[in-house]
This record gives sequence, structure tokens and C-alpha cells, in this order.
Amino acid sequence: MQDRVSCSTTEQRGVFAAMAIEAYCVKCKAKKIMTDPVEGTTKNGKPITKGKCPDCGTTICRIGAAKK
Ligand SMILES: [Zn+2]
Repeated sequence: MQDRVSCSTTEQRGVFAAMAIEAYCVKCKAKKIMTDPVEGTTKNGKPITKGKCPDCGTTICRIGAAKK
């Protein structure tokens, strides 16, 4: 299921299943460990990691690849 978020990406699925990646949830107004994280690329070609808020299910994302 796709949510509309400001950070649209091209996704690469299943890159990291078990990593704990923090991202800011705009609904909870707090950092959350995203669930189901996927790595993608923004329109600008920057790496981005996208997942879901464990509390409210909103799609959250952080700039940068999850692994260094
Ligand atoms: Zn949330």
C-alpha cells in the first residue's frame, strides 16, 4: 500500500529487513524506529530510506541510505 508523502522515491524492496532505522514521524511529532524500511532514491538522486511509523502507520522517511 502506498501512502502519499513528500518524499517520493523509487524503491528497492527488501534491502534491509531487520535494521533499526530512526526517522521523524510528522504525526507523532517524534522519532520512531521505522518498520519495513526500504532504500530508495529521490528525484534528485539522493539516497533515502523509507518505512512506516510503528505507532500510527504513517510513511516516514529519512534522507540518506540506512547503511553507511
Ligand atoms: Zn507516527
